[in-house]
Amino acid sequence: MNLATTLNADLHCHSVVSDGTLTPEALAGRAKAAGVELWSLTDHDEIGGQQRAIDAARALDLPYLTGTEISVTFAGRVVHIVGLGFDHRAPEMVEGLRATRGGRESRAREMAAGLAQVGIPGAFEGALKYVGNPELISRTHFARFLVDGGFCNDVPEVFRRFLTDGKPGFVPHKWASLKDAVGWITRAGGIAVIAHPGRYDFTPTEEYALITEFMAHGGRGIEVVTGSHTAAEFGRYADTAIEFGLLASRGSDFHSPEESRVDLGTLPPLAGRLTPVWAALAERIHH
Ligand code: AMP
Ligand code: MN
Ligand code: MN
Ligand code: MN
Repeated sequence: MNLATTLNADLHCHSVVSDGTLTPEALAGRAKAAGVELWSLTDHDEIGGQQRAIDAARALDLPYLTGTEISVTFAGRVVHIVGLGFDHRAPEMVEGLRATRGGRESRAREMAAGLAQVGIPGAFEGALKYVGNPELISRTHFARFLVDGGFCNDVPEVFRRFLTDGKPGFVPHKWASLKDAVGWITRAGGIAVIAHPGRYDFTPTEEYALITEFMAHGGRGIEVVTGSHTAAEFGRYADTAIEFGLLASRGSDFHSPEESRVDLGTLPPLAGRLTPVWAALAERIHH
């Protein structure tokens, strides 16, 4: 397998096991049809879909890396860390993710209470109807309920009006620590990657602190080409990857045919000057 930057790798997407709307099997089929050459399913705080993804990819002759996207609290903010190529049966990883998912139900009940106060009753039960995995009720499920219930026109509007810091349905939450998330991934044989760094609205000083602490804990990668970045950010984070000696990753962050702006396998390739994260994971690829 040629593991150059030109490989059509898509190493970030979500299934019904977290907040996507397609099954792992449907995603595998969609990735294959789109010409993806190396795929990873990266459900939020969950690896319950990994064996299904491995089996579905193998049936399609689609090379596969195990994946997850871990919610982390860093400097009082939420940062996402993608893990790639780890052993999805590693007990520490399984337990760590279980604990990270743990507070989601009570958080969701508090979110619903906040929404009830602004005239939106029944949001917990409403959101639950969209949930594929009872351990993973997320803001995305509330957003789908609010759109289908006619409270908002689309998912981005729900986040703007109701689900972001300071808005009635937002509840602060303590997620995994950066040290733990990077450690679980690394000790399970995988590589930790900073997800969509352009999305955090960090100052240059805060971003520097995130990257240096992440690397101090053993993190080695950063998403450069992602559905969450603008074309300008593809260039900017390519420079960041080179400056810090980080491996570069690429992924659509696809959630749903109806909601996602970027489909599987359709983003531009990584710039040739980068070292792709998949070049360091050759031994971890499921064929
Ligand atoms: P949670 O893990 O429950 O906090 O939910 C986070 C998820 O909400 C992310 O993974 C995205 O799928 C989605 N999300 C976050 N912010 C936005 C936004 N501004 N517009 C649309 N979806 C968003
Ligand atoms: Mn999501
Ligand atoms: Mn994310
Ligand atoms: Mn994601």
